[in-house]
Amino acid sequence: MPQANIVVYGAPWCPDCKRAKQFLGEQRVPYDWIDIDRDETARAYVQQLNDGKQIIPTIVFEDGSLLVEPSNAELAAKLGIQPKARRDFYDLIVVGGGPAGLSTALYAAREGIETLVVERSAIGGQAGVTERIDNYLGFPQGVEGARLADDMRAHAERFGAEMLPAQTVAAVRADGSYRTVATESGDEYGAMALLLAVGTRYRRLNVPGEEDFIGAGVHFCATCDGPFYKGQNMVVIGGGNSALEEGLFLTRFADRVTLLVRGDALRASRALQEKAANHPKMEIRFNASVQEFHGDGRLSAVVVKDSKSGSAEEMRPAAVFVFIGLDPTTDFLGDLVELDEWGFIRTFDNMQTSVEGIFAAGDARAGSTKQVASAVGEGAAAALMIRQYLEKTGDRRGYRGD
Ligand code: NDP
Repeated sequence: MPQANIVVYGAPWCPDCKRAKQFLGEQRVPYDWIDIDRDETARAYVQQLNDGKQIIPTIVFEDGSLLVEPSNAELAAKLGIQPKARRDFYDLIVVGGGPAGLSTALYAAREGIETLVVERSAIGGQAGVTERIDNYLGFPQGVEGARLADDMRAHAERFGAEMLPAQTVAAVRADGSYRTVATESGDEYGAMALLLAVGTRYRRLNVPGEEDFIGAGVHFCATCDGPFYKGQNMVVIGGGNSALEEGLFLTRFADRVTLLVRGDALRASRALQEKAANHPKMEIRFNASVQEFHGDGRLSAVVVKDSKSGSAEEMRPAAVFVFIGLDPTTDFLGDLVELDEWGFIRTFDNMQTSVEGIFAAGDARAGSTKQVASAVGEGAAAALMIRQYLEKTGDRRGYRGD
């Protein structure tokens, strides 16, 4: 049974805190909330618990044990809760609850296709932790990522799509015309068709010190950690859309944001390049390659080499944010479906992967454009292809095809 006396330390702007609180609320688990932005003692306590690192949410349980920035699946396991789907067989299982998966779920459920969405963390995916999305059609003022995620979920649920949160898919199998999804907690669900909409995670630099200072000066989410560094200097690494967009967002808090670009050109869109070039708080340095991170418990210095002159210098920002591209989260697929050399899922005709009845959409699909709008579009296209596939196989439960 759920435990009581749980304390969640976090801050109101932190998306992972919101997700953890929402999960506890949904599971009816009582907890106390402490905002470390308003409570210096609590902030110091969180740092003490995390060896000097300030990582939120930090969740302390009745027995004194803690979970730091847990996924919903880890939280569920700790609480002894095992969310289960209502049935064990569906027409369609969608793996991944970001915009692509939710779009497929909405289209499919609306046509009477019995659909389950399995998501290990928060419904909404990466878009859900993006502070503001400015280029999604229909929102002329931009839209908060968290709000868009909530609305997308509600929309898919309105047509009967079932959400299974906090469950990590460990493996996927194809047995004849049946497809099976096995979760890390040991449950199995079957379906006639699968959609893989598993998304990506931010790539690491893999230089000395990076791992040691994650959460203690090295970060991968500006919305999650930027507000910790109000009035200080920050470094952003990367020259693509993510680096510039997140760097511009960080200027709200930072005194100065220095963008370190390893080559001599940016990859971001023209509009973002212009915004960054004209921003009084932003500085862009080219040919700047990060060699290592130093510190004692928390980041104190970044060694940056000028790849033209070969000279190295030490920078001392309060925090570094790394945005150097995306890796697909496809390890769990093994060699079931064909992947490209970077691990993205190859699709052939009609968004189908190399295995019949298994489709892919969104950021983890090879060739995808990593835009919310295209993820939603790919999700809708995949749903129509899945409908055709189900009509062809004829053997489905809820879908009548008329
Ligand atoms: P990108 O692949 O577009 O850019 C990666 C950047 O990181 C490049 O500047 C690259 O440099 C640099 N880089 C890669 N590896 C390293 C390394 N080891 N050390 C230093 N620098 C490195 O990735 P993004 O995360 O920016 O974007 C991913 C996708 O998401 C893109 O398709 C992008 O368009 C999309 N996106 C769209 C947004 C929007 O439309 N508003 C917002 C955010 C992302 P180099 O050029 O030298 O390889």
